[in-house]
Amino acid sequence: MLPPLSRVGVQGTPPSSPLDFDYLKQWHHTLLSWSAGVITFPACIGLFQALIFRPLQISNATFGARVFGICSVGTAGVMASIGLLGTSAYLLKFGTDMTEAVVSSLDTRHILFNGVASAVWFYILGGRFHSVLPSSLVNPGAFANRGLTASFNYASNEKKKKLNFQGKQHGCHTCGRFWLIDKFIADHQPPLAVIRDMMLKRRYIFGIFPTRPKIPNQRFYPQCNQCSQKQQNYLSALSRVKVQRLKLKWRHIVTHGTSLRLYHVWLPFPFIYHMFEPLKG
Ligand SMILES: [Zn+2]
Repeated sequence: MLPPLSRVGVQGTPPSSPLDFDYLKQWHHTLLSWSAGVITFPACIGLFQALIFRPLQISNATFGARVFGICSVGTAGVMASIGLLGTSAYLLKFGTDMTEAVVSSLDTRHILFNGVASAVWFYILGGRFHSVLPSSLVNPGAFANRGLTASFNYASNEKKKKLNFQGKQHGCHTCGRFWLIDKFIADHQPPLAVIRDMMLKRRYIFGIFPTRPKIPNQRFYPQCNQCSQKQQNYLSALSRVKVQRLKLKWRHIVTHGTSLRLYHVWLPFPFIYHMFEPLKG
């Protein structure tokens, strides 16, 4: 049962749900509820990276990363909706009926709308779905932007300058940080050690004729010192084990839950859904 009106202190009737329009007219209430969703959305994306993707060794370079990313963004959107509705129910003093009020506001169609709308909005703001997964150290990271063409040589001074500029604009391609970093390192992707190993791995036609090894396109991306150090630790293992036998372990996958971008801004989709609900008749 809903609490008596006196506990709410507005309007002529008590609120029927956390999305009660008469009560949403109070802007402080709407803003506070939305804020809860705005915090929950990136927090969930960060938690999914640390608690699910990293332990399962799923990175931005894993096959099907985009699908994992869409699921992650959609689920974070639904969690943010729950955060918004929960805060709204708390502000409307639903008391012990808070959970019931939130659950009754979220039917299947509403949940689906929140998930899909969050993913579409994320994409409109320039988000790339694979970028919500943690970064692999032997592939362009979740924040990899244009980069620069690379060869087997180290980056020239001119390229280093350009990469430093890209780093200051877009952040480290692995962890996304750009604050408190003076100088970015030119990171060769795929790493030279991996390419050398590919070249040594020759295939033979009918076991006699050697084929040319396939060398992937090489590019430089800006990387921070911390990520570069992690990558070096990982690659140093190549001197002991052949790369094809060296599997990326969870500790070689970098999470970046605190590197926020514009596409992490979440809209109050439960309110939007509720606004258009009367139009459906
Ligand atoms: Zn980094």
